[in-house]
Amino acid sequence: MSHDPARVERIKENLAAARARIEAACHKADRDPAEVSLIAVTKTRPAEDVRILASLGLSDVGENRDQEAAPKAAATADLDLTWHFIGQLQTNKAKSVAAYADVVHSVDRARLARALGDRAAAAERRLTCLVQVNLDDDSQAGVLGPRGGVDPADAVELAARIDGHEALELGGVMAVAPREGDPYAAFGRLYEVACLIRDRYPRATMVSAGMSGDLEAAIERGATHLRLGAALLGDRGPIVG
Ligand SMILES: *Cc1c(COP(=O)(O)O)cnc(C)c1O
Repeated sequence: MSHDPARVERIKENLAAARARIEAACHKADRDPAEVSLIAVTKTRPAEDVRILASLGLSDVGENRDQEAAPKAAATADLDLTWHFIGQLQTNKAKSVAAYADVVHSVDRARLARALGDRAAAAERRLTCLVQVNLDDDSQAGVLGPRGGVDPADAVELAARIDGHEALELGGVMAVAPREGDPYAAFGRLYEVACLIRDRYPRATMVSAGMSGDLEAAIERGATHLRLGAALLGDRGPIVG
């Protein structure tokens, strides 16, 4: 099946522009761009966009809702993609997510870690899990609703619970920048948590941080995995979660 050439061209240009931003930010931060991986967030986009991204060499795909991710992963199962689940996750969705996801970025409680681990084990799969760290202050969560994540003070304990499950691999940490305030400061706090966890679990090196609007701050503060949606695939409209 051939892709819409205009769409391919658009995504190709976006990808080149995103890579240029990443390189510039790495240069500024004195980091090697090879240390920074790109996950294409395809939420609200059709499976066809996933195929185009794959044809352009991107094999890491992120989704934030199981209802959307499960059919998209099934529709592209012939492509050897790595699926990242990045959204808030209810425990009753663990079985579905554990069947197709390779990495779950949004593990924010022990009960969810155990559910994912048990479901992965039953499916004879292994899942990499990241500890999602909450960088909001409470006043924002109160007004706008929580964005998920464990309190930074509880992150090491949750890491231990993930590490202790036979079907789970502790990958590192993830966060979303607060809606307000300085993303550099917030990602700096995430990096401190990442270092605490990595001291204890040297293989847990992933720092998933940085979206289309704040990738420069994330790179400056040690991100290893960027999650880019709009920068690659265009604006999703006003209903962004
Ligand atoms: C949607 C989403 C992204 C991508 O956001 P963009 O601003 O489109 O780059 C990254 N992380 C999470 C958790 C998301 O839900």
